[in-house]
Amino acid sequence: MKKVLSILMLIALGYIPSASAYGPTGHRVVAEIATFRLSNKAKLGIQKIIGNESLAMIANWPDFIKSDTTGTYNHTSSWHYLDFPGHCTRGEFDRIMAEAKGENLYSQTMAMITQLKNPKTPSAQKRFALSFLVHLIGDMHMPLHVGRDEDMGGNKIQVSWFERPTNLHRVWDEHLIDFQQYSYSEYAHNLNRVTTAAKASQIRQGTVADWMWESHLLSDKIYDRTHSGDKLSYRYNFLFVEDLNDQLLKGGVRLARVLNDIFG
Ligand SMILES: [Zn+2]
Repeated sequence: MKKVLSILMLIALGYIPSASAYGPTGHRVVAEIATFRLSNKAKLGIQKIIGNESLAMIANWPDFIKSDTTGTYNHTSSWHYLDFPGHCTRGEFDRIMAEAKGENLYSQTMAMITQLKNPKTPSAQKRFALSFLVHLIGDMHMPLHVGRDEDMGGNKIQVSWFERPTNLHRVWDEHLIDFQQYSYSEYAHNLNRVTTAAKASQIRQGTVADWMWESHLLSDKIYDRTHSGDKLSYRYNFLFVEDLNDQLLKGGVRLARVLNDIFG
C-alpha cells in the first residue's frame, strides 16, 4: 500500500508519465476537423473500412499500441517522428527526408496513403493504415515530432508547466492543448467555423514534405524561445496559442485533402 501511494505521489508530481498523460485531444481535433471536410465519396470509402466509428475514435490507436507488451507493434515506434538538425536549410531537410534510414514519419505516411489507394489491400490492413494515416498527419503538425535529433524532439528538455515538472515535447503534445479546456469536438468546431474558404484552400496547398518543413520551421521558433529549466505558464500560452491553433487547423484541413484524394 505504501509503495502504491508513493507511486501515485510520483505520478501526481509528474515524475512518471501516467497512461492518461498521453494527450489524445490534439489527434481527435485534427480528425474531427477533417471529418467536417470530407467529400461524400470519402465518407463512404471510410465507412467501408471502419463502419460507424469516427476518425476521432481511431486517431489515437497508434499511440495506445505502444503499451502492447507482446511486441506486435514494436516496429511502428519510429513512425511517429523524424528529427533534423536545428536551423537546417530546406536543402538539408529534403536530403534527410530522402536518405533517412528505416521507417519514419514521412516514409510511413506515404506508405499508408499507397496502401489505402490500393484496392487489393486486405480490409484489416486498410483499417490499420487509416488509423495510422489519421494519426501521422496529426503528429507531423505537432512541431516537436519534426524537431531536433540532439534532444529527441524536446523530450530531453526539462521544463515545468504550471510548476509541474515535464518536458518540452509533452508541453506541445498535450499541456498546451489541455490548457485551452475544450473538449476535442468543441475545439474542432471552434477552429473550423472561423476558417474562410480562402484560408482553407491556401492551407490545402503543397506536399506532405512541404507540411513537415513548415512544422519544422515552427520547431526552430519554439527551440529559440524555450530553454531547459524554463518555468512555463500563462505567458507561454499567450506566446504560442495562435501557432498551436494554426497547427491543429492545418492538420485537419490537410488530412481531409489527403483522404478526399485517396477516396475521390
Ligand atoms: Zn504519435
